[in-house]
Amino acid sequence: MASIEMNNIVKKYGDGFPAVNDVSLDIADGEFMILVGPSGCGKSTLLRMIVGLEDITSGDMVIGGKRVNDLAPRDRNLSMVFQNYALYPHMTVYENIAFPLRLSKTPDDEVRRRVTEASDVLELEEHLERKPANLSGGQRQRVAMGRAIVRQADAFLFDEPLSNLDAKLRGQMRTEISRLQRRLGITTVYVTHDQTEAMTLGDRVCVLRKGKIQQVASPRELYEQP
Ligand code: ADP
Ligand code: ADP
Repeated sequence: MASIEMNNIVKKYGDGFPAVNDVSLDIADGEFMILVGPSGCGKSTLLRMIVGLEDITSGDMVIGGKRVNDLAPRDRNLSMVFQNYALYPHMTVYENIAFPLRLSKTPDDEVRRRVTEASDVLELEEHLERKPANLSGGQRQRVAMGRAIVRQADAFLFDEPLSNLDAKLRGQMRTEISRLQRRLGITTVYVTHDQTEAMTLGDRVCVLRKGKIQQVASPRELYEQP
């Protein structure tokens, strides 16, 4: 686990107006932070700079006390869950979840132990031999989360993970993500434009507008404000 510290982060694409404009934000070890704001406010860009998928124009990104500006994504030990799941269609659920461990050449018995543990938590035990095409949207989402938790990363990053699901499933998954995060106590950054997710999931909510932080507060503080 690790804290995430952003100091005066700026991102410019080309020579346009900065997509992220001097953002400083400290996310504590184990904290669940929501990034919220209208489309185009810089949420995804900020998340991608944490993961290392986007270069930082200026400022410092510090994860677990270490400056990571120049570290490749694979050297950051973070797990990202995308909106479109990004599962491998030709692999079973088991192999999809195991994939990050295969990449890091984890021994088979350790792979089995960790995939079993993850599929337990996510209630996927009965589906391990199935292919993604034969799963419901919610089950696919859970496989994507399984792949994220199996790595025992320092932090989880979610980019609008529920936006393609119907309302009922979204409610269910919200509860699951919340339960999972509390159970694992893992630092989490979660991008959404959904008010309900923002107000129910996080310990704190960071409201972005035009690349700047407008406010950082707990859901309760946001709720009670006039
Ligand atoms: P979202 O709002 O869900 O983040 P977008 O539709 O804004 O998705 O962006 C989808 C993809 O297009 C992203 O990978 C983003 O980097 C890229 N993108 C967004 N805006 C621009 C732009 N002005 N020029 C080039 N690529 C862009
Ligand atoms: P959000 O996730 O809040 O919708 P983004 O981070 O996707 O916002 O985008 C922030 C701003 O940066 C937008 O103006 C978008 O068009 C621009 N942008 C995003 N990705 C790119 C890109 N790859 N190239 C150029 N501009 C981009």
